[in-house]
Amino acid sequence: MAKAFIGFGGNIGDARQIIIDAIVCLAQHIEVHIINKSCFYQSAPVNAVGGDYINAVVEIDTELNPYGLLYVCQTIEQQFGRERPFANAPRTLDLDILFFEGIQQDHSDLTIPHPRITERSFVVLPLLEICPDFFLPEHGPLKAFLPQIANQRIKRLTCKNCDCGLQLH
Ligand code: AMP
Repeated sequence: MAKAFIGFGGNIGDARQIIIDAIVCLAQHIEVHIINKSCFYQSAPVNAVGGDYINAVVEIDTELNPYGLLYVCQTIEQQFGRERPFANAPRTLDLDILFFEGIQQDHSDLTIPHPRITERSFVVLPLLEICPDFFLPEHGPLKAFLPQIANQRIKRLTCKNCDCGLQLH
């Protein structure tokens, strides 16, 4: 069993509901156990076009290997109609494997940890929310990167995704 973190994002349609439904799909896989879910965050697009994104991060335990998990993530993206007409196009749903316990690899089809974790507020904030002491191999404590991303527009939404108790209105 390995711990992993998955980032969810989308900026087409009812992105919050899509992410809620996608997490349900993820939880239906017998080899995936949801441990924790962050709140939803609304963030400005970074190197992308379209409207604001909705993001969240989920912590799982899994019996899958990294490629098995990637396959599950890509199947869920397809279930929600993701197309890739051009790089960084607006997307209904994007799933990224941010971290997979015990794995460090830099392959074109799967880089773990995800190479841009420390650069994106929409990953750093939700990840720190559910794992305040997250330590990124070869980088150190994730919270040390907060000052570098402080200029990125993002806000935490009242939500029904996590167990924070805030209600979506
Ligand atoms: P994107 O269009 O941004 O979702 O990128 C998807 C592509 O990135 C897929 O073809 C994956 O094989 C590749 N990829 C590389 N590393 C990762 C990762 N850590 N999580 C998800 N996809 C990855």
